[in-house]
Amino acid sequence: MKIAVLRERFEGESRVAATPEIVAKLIGLGAQVSIEQGAGIGSRIADDQYRAAGANIIGSVAETVGEADIILSVRRPSALAIKGASPGALLIGALDPYGNEREIAGLAQAGIVAISMEFMPRITRAQVMDILSSQANLAGYQAVIEAAAIFERAMPMMMTAAGTVRPAKAFVMGAGVAGLQAIATAKRLGAVVSATDVRAAAGEQVESLGAKFIMTEALKDASGAGGYARELTVDEQDAQAELVAGHISKQDIVITTALIPGRPAPKLVTRAMVESMAPGSVIVDLAAERGGNVELTQKDQVVSHNGVTILGHSNLAGHIPTTASQLYARNLLAFVETLIDRQEKKLAIDWDDELVKATVLTRDGAVVHPAFAGAVA
Ligand code: NAD
Repeated sequence: MKIAVLRERFEGESRVAATPEIVAKLIGLGAQVSIEQGAGIGSRIADDQYRAAGANIIGSVAETVGEADIILSVRRPSALAIKGASPGALLIGALDPYGNEREIAGLAQAGIVAISMEFMPRITRAQVMDILSSQANLAGYQAVIEAAAIFERAMPMMMTAAGTVRPAKAFVMGAGVAGLQAIATAKRLGAVVSATDVRAAAGEQVESLGAKFIMTEALKDASGAGGYARELTVDEQDAQAELVAGHISKQDIVITTALIPGRPAPKLVTRAMVESMAPGSVIVDLAAERGGNVELTQKDQVVSHNGVTILGHSNLAGHIPTTASQLYARNLLAFVETLIDRQEKKLAIDWDDELVKATVLTRDGAVVHPAFAGAVA
């Protein structure tokens, strides 16, 4: 059983799909592990560290993936990039299929079994494999760290001989995995924190972290399927806009994280709302990848508007690649373990397993996932 780990080619991607800790565990499961040369550099892992864990370091991608049963990646490589892979090889990563249906169909044509970790069901058994949670948690933390770094004032209340300085006010919009971690981080830095969400259940979680939950009676509980939010009606959107407009002008730091599965990010912060904020305020838009929660956000850009800075980084977890890779690689290992027969030390995939069914995009030359069936390259 051979497992290959790719060097990431996506611009700005510094994470890697396996760390030496995980390589050693894969070898313990009976695998031979090939690492593409330089794969760990962005996460400060040298080839020698992989070698010490028992991996082979391979100079070319074709040789790395050649004969591999499993290819591990962070981002989706093109079918061309992994053309040396054998038909039937599993490609496991964050394959980002929405909007990339042609690329997914290309992987099918190449005979690759593409497995998209973003589709891992959010059930207890699969929590340890949940890349969305592990990476969103880090992104929520990093959003506050980056906001604090460019905020030109102190975050906590400062009681000094020269007088008292008021603490910064931080407002978190969307209290899911990333938002709750942003709240906790802003609290730890001493900010006065408030947060909003459209799921009523989020209120208790926000308050348990010591933040104030901002909500209006006019906004009904917009919980949707699977613990996610549903899209708001026009009336609800108006009620939310009124609520946000009244609150945001008094905030120093705003972290937006609001997402709705399979939809563009809801627009929550208008240009006028940004203009109501004091110069020197900072907004971090964690929804930038999906179009942004803030009207003025530009993906992967830093925008300055009337003295308010808006950060639109789409890969904030990748800004702390060492930790992000460590957790991502553990998520992947936990899933790979379910695909292996430990006695026989070989692949034994149960195609009827709900985890496999939910995540497999392509198989036997076809796109098989119901959300993308019929896609052509
Ligand atoms: P997400 O990334 O889809 O969305 C982020 C947050 O934005 C959510 O809390 C959502 O309610 C909120 N949101 C959507 N529209 C909004 C709007 N107009 N205004 C304000 N907020 C808005 O969500 P997520 O972080 O992936 O978590 C979603 C849920 O899943 C949470 O309840 C979380 O606790 C749960 N969860 C469960 C598991 C598990 O059981 N294994 C794992 C992770 C998360």
